[in-house]
Amino acid sequence: MPTCSQCSNTAVYEANSQPLCLGCAQRFQDILDRQLDAHIRDLNYIEAQWERMTGIPQPRYEVRRPAPVIAGNVTVNKIRISDSVVGAINTGQIDHLNVVVNAVRESGQAALAEKLAALSQAVVDTRELVVEAKNEALEHLAFLAAEAVRPEHQRQRSVGKIILNALEKIMTATGGLLKLWEAVRPLLHSLF
Ligand SMILES: [Zn+2]
Repeated sequence: MPTCSQCSNTAVYEANSQPLCLGCAQRFQDILDRQLDAHIRDLNYIEAQWERMTGIPQPRYEVRRPAPVIAGNVTVNKIRISDSVVGAINTGQIDHLNVVVNAVRESGQAALAEKLAALSQAVVDTRELVVEAKNEALEHLAFLAAEAVRPEHQRQRSVGKIILNALEKIMTATGGLLKLWEAVRPLLHSLF
């Protein structure tokens, strides 16, 4: 019986010509599912941007399941919604943001991850933005974080620049978030 290429268990599957045990095959499938979900979210996001810019309704694609919790790794700088924040912050967006900021950190861009987390938390907490502007800013931050994780040649440069400008507009309308925004802005610009 062949041995799993990732651990000492007996292999029962093969993926990318690598023998895998049941547990490792499951983890591999989880990664594929997560990548597919991320692509669907990106597609929906772009459709939403088109809809905003053109006023023409665009289709949305179904994300098959909620983003799974990444187990085993430590999540630092977790973005939270405190009880004092008034209004309907999109909690699904916060969960998604936590996952992508974590992915930015795991991709080796710790400084960017920390600054994104700090700015995101400040967006959630600020009294200077209405809830619609907060949700929009959080959506933009999640998109930019997801782009940061992509290989450079796969990044969506023109969309990225549009999103950066939209985020800039929201940030410069505040006074209290400017310092955090200016700390992260050059890192985000260098992505595109
Ligand atoms: Zn294994």
